[in-house]
Amino acid sequence: MIKRPLNAIAALCGGTMLNDNGGAEIIGVSINTRTLKNGQLFVPILGERVDGHDFVADALTAGAGGALWQRSVAVPDVLSDAPLILVDDTVEALQQLAANYRDGLELRVVGVTGSNGKTTTKDMVAALLSGSFRVHKTEGNLNNHIGLPLTVLELDETVDAVVLEMGMSEFGEIDFLTRLAKPDVAIITNIGDSHMLQLGSRAGIAKAKLEIVAGLRPGGLLLMNGDEPLLHEGVRSVQLPDGVDVQTFGLQDGSRWVADNISVDATSSMFDVKGDAELQRVLLPVAGRHNVSNALAAIAAAKKLGVPADVIRKGFEQLKLTSMRIEPSMAHNGAMVLNDAYNASPTSVRAAIDVVDGLQGYRHKWLVLGDMLELGPQENEMHGEIGAYITPSKADAVLTFGAMSQHTAAAAAKQFAAAGLEERVRAFEDKQQLAEWLLAQLQPEDLVLVKGSRGMRMEEVVHALQRG
Ligand code: ATP
Ligand code: MG
Repeated sequence: MIKRPLNAIAALCGGTMLNDNGGAEIIGVSINTRTLKNGQLFVPILGERVDGHDFVADALTAGAGGALWQRSVAVPDVLSDAPLILVDDTVEALQQLAANYRDGLELRVVGVTGSNGKTTTKDMVAALLSGSFRVHKTEGNLNNHIGLPLTVLELDETVDAVVLEMGMSEFGEIDFLTRLAKPDVAIITNIGDSHMLQLGSRAGIAKAKLEIVAGLRPGGLLLMNGDEPLLHEGVRSVQLPDGVDVQTFGLQDGSRWVADNISVDATSSMFDVKGDAELQRVLLPVAGRHNVSNALAAIAAAKKLGVPADVIRKGFEQLKLTSMRIEPSMAHNGAMVLNDAYNASPTSVRAAIDVVDGLQGYRHKWLVLGDMLELGPQENEMHGEIGAYITPSKADAVLTFGAMSQHTAAAAAKQFAAAGLEERVRAFEDKQQLAEWLLAQLQPEDLVLVKGSRGMRMEEVVHALQRG
């Protein structure tokens, strides 16, 4: 953050200083006393289980230059002389601070939303821009109503482009984030089926993602997945800000940005950008056709911001994704393991199955699938549909872990039984047992893809396979 005195922060967030003596110079914002740095503003958040106000005294002792304080919480005597800014709601004040701070900055902003591939695409856009700009990006997955404002408050004069991930689970959330961020380029990676409960239907999901146009700056660009009919339909009823252009990207013909001649192996992909002589045989150091789609969005965003083709190529060479997004490594006995255990939903599990399907030259391709969580009342059926999607031509064997994944295994077993291969599908109740059983089978030239929802911690299987 560009530093400014505490009373200027109070003005930016609409608060009142408890003791107005100007206050210390504030150099940044933190919500966590464990990572707080000297001179930062501490923002206590009133949670259901923990009240951040209990840590304000500690934060000040640890070097905080001041803290927000929610008026509904009584200020204890020990803090009556403390450098506090009184506000009605600390989270709203943090958001207002970030919004006003952002308005004082001159820089390029790319916003990324979508059901799957936000973090991946964010990392790709940042990699492509970094040859032409000094780039900052959302760290990890800090993509919500608190993470995005905190990321904005990290910006300073050493940054001239920022890539912000925008997540949501309800209508109105992307609208809020985009109006705060005011992007020059907005990306919708895809439409999946997460948050169906809140949004009602896939059309509802498309509508919620399209909220991202609300904050686009005049002359800005919306990039959306052209392979998704619901986005084409949805964008027709969206009010576009003045001068905003809409472009599509996709793997099928018809989009403005199309990938052609795609070839994939376990660690990389190669493709041509159709109609662009400078972007033929682009090498992407990650597997999966879905990542080629993400890469197209990143290319289109970089082009909009004037990044030349050779810088784009170099950017991909240097790309390093956030971990556990089809992260390749060697496992025991020379087998290759793809760690995709960061998270799972029906769309992303299908994408992972397609990755395995597309890989050639392996002796055995193993799919290790844990439960997909938070799917609502249809969860068992949705697991069954994943199982039915797995045929012996796509993978050689399927191992599942978790109660709901038994439905995946049962449906997959039916597919495999038709070819007399039902013994190649196994449901485990114990992750360690699964890993040990698989370890005993693994051979060099085998490939294992591991995936499941965050709560399933399927990376433990990966680690066991690596240890051997
Ligand atoms: P979250 O909502 O948890 O922040 P995200 O949208 O940031 O997720 P990533 O972390 O980039 O998504 O990717 C998560 C998983 O989604 C990947 O490991 C991959 O399996 C899948 N995925 C990535 N991109 C796509 C895509 N374009 N289409 C379908 N699935 C994808
Ligand atoms: Mg993410």
